Amino acid sequence: MLTVGLTGGIGCGKTTVGEMFVALGCRLIDSDQITRQLFEPGQQVHEAVVREFGAAIVHDSGWIDRRRLSAIVFSEPSKREKLNSLVHPAIKERQDAFLENVRREDPDAIAIVDAALMVETGSYKRYDRLVVVTCRPEQQRSRLERRSGLTLDAIEARIESQMPLVEKAGHADFVVDNSGAAEDTRRRVEDIYGELVRLSRGDRDVSS
Ligand code: ADP
Repeated sequence: MLTVGLTGGIGCGKTTVGEMFVALGCRLIDSDQITRQLFEPGQQVHEAVVREFGAAIVHDSGWIDRRRLSAIVFSEPSKREKLNSLVHPAIKERQDAFLENVRREDPDAIAIVDAALMVETGSYKRYDRLVVVTCRPEQQRSRLERRSGLTLDAIEARIESQMPLVEKAGHADFVVDNSGAAEDTRRRVEDIYGELVRLSRGDRDVSS
């Protein structure tokens, strides 16, 4: 099995690129979806986060309201660190379980772990290869605005909380520049997939 970390600037197209890899046959776990599951009522992480940040972050449905929580943590780095310390270990546990499961089911698989902060946390080093998705700064802002409906200040706070994109891309084995049309990105993803397949067949010395 070949393991691949997938990351990039928020709003640059990590999820879109992940879906392209899945369409080609890769297995993928999305850390954002894991977080959603951890914020479900009854989960230990849910309890710990509510204990830390107060009942006001709980939605009527019982789930943690990510918007309310984000409003708190993106205004104060120390609170963001606290949140990460409560959530990241449980995310890692689920990622490891996913990789174990894929390894058992399909030893020839290409298994992708998608996570926003893997370069910041250093967890990208756990994977055989790293893919970083980028786009131009103004596109990052406008795509985020369209997708999230957040204010420009809120968007800046999220971008500021991440490592600068150029620096992040410096750690990549493969950069996907998602500044162009989706079809251009798909072609780049297909090329990278071809390279990953070669690597997964054991030729780990192929230069990337
Ligand atoms: P991320 O997972 O990195 O936050 P997404 O994949 O959700 O980013 O993409 C952010 C937004 O930009 C989504 O609404 C997505 O549909 C859109 N998008 C992604 N790639 C492109 C592209 N090449 N051209 C135009 N819009 C795109």
